[in-house]
Amino acid sequence: MNIELAHEVAEKFFKKSGDIEVLAGERNPNFLVTTSAGKFVLKIHSGEEVSQIQIQESALSALEQLAKFQTPKTIPAASGELLVDIGEGKFARMLTWIDGDLWSQSKDIEENNEAQLGRLIATVDSQLATVDCTNFRTTLDQPFGWNALQANELVTDIALIKDPELRDQVSTIFDRIASKTLAKVLALPHQLIHNDANDNNVVVFNGSVSGLIDFGDLIYAPRVCGLAVGCAYQLDANDPVASIYAIVRGYHEVSALSPAELEVLFDLICLRVATSVVMAHKQLAADPDNEYLSISQDFFRSLLPALTSVSDRLSHYRLRNACGYEAHPDSRHVRQWLATTDAKISDVVMPPFAEAKKIWLDWSGGNKNIARSWEAIEAEMKEAGADVAIGHYCEDRNVYESDFFVDEGKESRTVHLAVDLFAPAGTPVYAALDGKVFLFHDNTAHLDNGPMIVLEHQTDQGVKFHTLYAHLSRASLDGLSVGKEIKSGQQIATMGTEEVNVGWPPHTHFQIILDLCDMAHDIWGVAAVSELPVWRSMCPNPNLILRIPEGTDVHAHMKTETLAQERKVVMSRALSLNFQKHLEIVSGKGAYLFDRAGTKYLDLVNNVAHLGHSHPRVVETAYKQMITLNTNTRYWNQNAIEYARALASTFPDPLSVVFFVNSGSEANDLALRLAQTHTKAKGMMVLEDAYHGHVTSIIDISPYKFNGRGGAGRPDHVRVAPIPDAYKGLHRGEGAGTKYAAEFKRELDSLDQPLCAFISESIVSTGGQVPLAPGFLKQAFEMARAAGGVCIADEVQIGMGRVGTHFWGFELHDVVPDIVTIGKPLGSGHPLAAVVTTPEIANSFITGMEYFNTFGGNPVSAAIGQTVLDVIVDEALQRNALVTGSYLMDEVRKLSKDIEFIGDVRGSGLFIGVELVSDKASQQPGTQITKDLIEFARDNGVFLSSDGPADNVLKIKPPMIIGRAEVDQFLDVLQCGLSKS
Ligand code: PMP
Repeated sequence: MNIELAHEVAEKFFKKSGDIEVLAGERNPNFLVTTSAGKFVLKIHSGEEVSQIQIQESALSALEQLAKFQTPKTIPAASGELLVDIGEGKFARMLTWIDGDLWSQSKDIEENNEAQLGRLIATVDSQLATVDCTNFRTTLDQPFGWNALQANELVTDIALIKDPELRDQVSTIFDRIASKTLAKVLALPHQLIHNDANDNNVVVFNGSVSGLIDFGDLIYAPRVCGLAVGCAYQLDANDPVASIYAIVRGYHEVSALSPAELEVLFDLICLRVATSVVMAHKQLAADPDNEYLSISQDFFRSLLPALTSVSDRLSHYRLRNACGYEAHPDSRHVRQWLATTDAKISDVVMPPFAEAKKIWLDWSGGNKNIARSWEAIEAEMKEAGADVAIGHYCEDRNVYESDFFVDEGKESRTVHLAVDLFAPAGTPVYAALDGKVFLFHDNTAHLDNGPMIVLEHQTDQGVKFHTLYAHLSRASLDGLSVGKEIKSGQQIATMGTEEVNVGWPPHTHFQIILDLCDMAHDIWGVAAVSELPVWRSMCPNPNLILRIPEGTDVHAHMKTETLAQERKVVMSRALSLNFQKHLEIVSGKGAYLFDRAGTKYLDLVNNVAHLGHSHPRVVETAYKQMITLNTNTRYWNQNAIEYARALASTFPDPLSVVFFVNSGSEANDLALRLAQTHTKAKGMMVLEDAYHGHVTSIIDISPYKFNGRGGAGRPDHVRVAPIPDAYKGLHRGEGAGTKYAAEFKRELDSLDQPLCAFISESIVSTGGQVPLAPGFLKQAFEMARAAGGVCIADEVQIGMGRVGTHFWGFELHDVVPDIVTIGKPLGSGHPLAAVVTTPEIANSFITGMEYFNTFGGNPVSAAIGQTVLDVIVDEALQRNALVTGSYLMDEVRKLSKDIEFIGDVRGSGLFIGVELVSDKASQQPGTQITKDLIEFARDNGVFLSSDGPADNVLKIKPPMIIGRAEVDQFLDVLQCGLSKS
């Protein structure tokens, strides 16, 4: 079909005229039609394709709902038909054009777009799963070379490949599919899938994956087949599996991949690459001039050596790990079996090993004085009178200097997967368990394993695993044969000399390995640190067998990138991270936090570290009490009782009864129970934008959550009063508090059930550090009490002297609550929280049901709480909060004279809000200004955070120990950051 005909069809049937260009395509002619009304794609089909086009139409209409990604939409012809008969057995249809570049041609693809590609495929799959394919099955199941489920049909065509090496590689993959994978794939749930997310069908717009085109390869198959296609075109031969982690994780993030899907994914990726090679040979034979057909060939040929040389099983384990499942699916079973079995587990060296005198060798990268030679090790052992020296499991070592541990272009392997048992050459070595010889070999390369034996064992359920004994004497291998039965406790070897052991001092490297993954005798005893979670699973801690009570696992530091990836899959993604450029924080001291590189940050965010990070007196108290006693509160113990009295003494009468709990949320939940038991009512009054905690009962009374993203809205028993914000709220100036109280009353009156409680902070932190308008709280308390409710002061954020003038925030308003909840600062970093109430309410709680809290008030927590109260006095921290906080606010107010963006400075003591606006007159929230400032400050060594409904209020609530120097550091950053905006 030529361009003239395309013009004619576009005009005659679709009433579109303009420029026409030919687009590349594998099977049908496609044309880009550019008109004054926009761009369109004209597709010409043969009569046989009509039933396939109907399926495409169903797919495209199911995808019309997609919000995040674009897919083509069909433009009906003038006749209203979606597919028009253009004569001579041909049909035409028109689709919308999707703006952007194809991934294969895009020059501005941003980093990390692989994850977005995974999300795209998953999102499309989720929609396509809604298409009912019952009537389409005959068409969908027709012979089709790109359908992975029909892989066996392509086998005869492999002979078309003339290059023997290439043909062998392709055959290996097809054999693997036929022998072990296809049956598993067929057992997975099927659905309609796109099946062709290759880089010529993925659209990139503004640097980011934005859409998917070409629905000509739709099949009915397990969705993992389509993911495999997307992965195949993104492979990197250097480490094919690692190169697709991001895509797979992106998919898993949108739509969780099951272990059964992950089990076949790698093989399906290989199959796609092999299929492409076979199809190209097949199609080029028939149509030697079609360039599109060979488009991916060089790339795929270059991948095949890598894909056929890596272990398919190890690839499966790595992909499981990437999605958060434990890498080896049987590792847990083997560990449990070793932990519980009645089978005889024997000492590997010097029975009874429990009685041997041991020392530990530190071969970690950080140790400058590694005892590396046998002389040095022996000297250390002699000095300590030790029989054996032990080298750790999961130690990141700097002793693997030879090339043996570095594969070209890859990360060196440095983390030890075994336990080393150092003793003089000739020391006997025994089998740990019944088993048989799996392999034995003398590995003679410098720093390799030397003579080694691998035994195979089985659990009670027939799951096989191995133990490896390396660095033996050469004679140890004499008389061995593969399959030879070995008994637990049988001597199998002696330790070799340094000479035999290719540069290592005499020791036995003892390792457990689930699967040798085609490593032959080059069995890894060390792994790359970035793959540590995979290898921990593959090679569990040998101490499951050795049973050394002091432990052998030193938990090598993982890379920050690994932590970032691991966190996303093994912890909930509902947890956010601070800052756009996230940080790994490893230590804290005083007002400062430190990242892995040692960079120091002033922490103006953390009101939990009330006395400063790692306060030495808190640490000492914790340590001393931990080595003495920690138990629950069902005994008399001075710590909790004396501390309860000390805490209660900071409150006005009649607040005198203390309950200890573990978090602010738990404190507020208990406060609700107390209030409900006392009033026998359920109705609640809360303030707009307030947050009181994450537990179910408290989300219900936290408008910040129930009205926020993902929230379910206000429950019936709750009424929300406007936040009494005198800066830019409904009412300002003189008498604002009374007007807000009237608003409060209106909401209270609308409650259609008895009032249980009114809960409020005295400065609403999540609302944007909003001090309650003067007079409001007193009147609201009176109104709530008149309605039969009790008043709860949430001091979780602001209490413990932080407001400077008073010890508790409610005291700013001259009120006495009925219940007070305290959290964050109470243990200065230790999880400790409390509820303080009146004897009357405490009496109502005596209902016969016991109150027991496992951790609340335990001797360690109570001792820490007491120390925190002591230090606040000893270091005069309340006064410091007042003086330093006032200085900070005064200085920011001075800056605000020249900086238009500083709208308001408010707060009390060291609980401060700085509201940033686009300009003072309009008071429009400076949300972006705030965001930029926070990132600027982070880059310049100061941690800030924001709150308020528009996220434009800097919330400043640093450790109470900060002084002028820290404030001046903040002021510099603030001034610089805002003058840049
Ligand atoms: N109340 C307020 C005012 C809070 O800010 C918070 C926590 N940010 C809580 C209660 C809940 O405390 P936790 O996170 O310790 O459960």
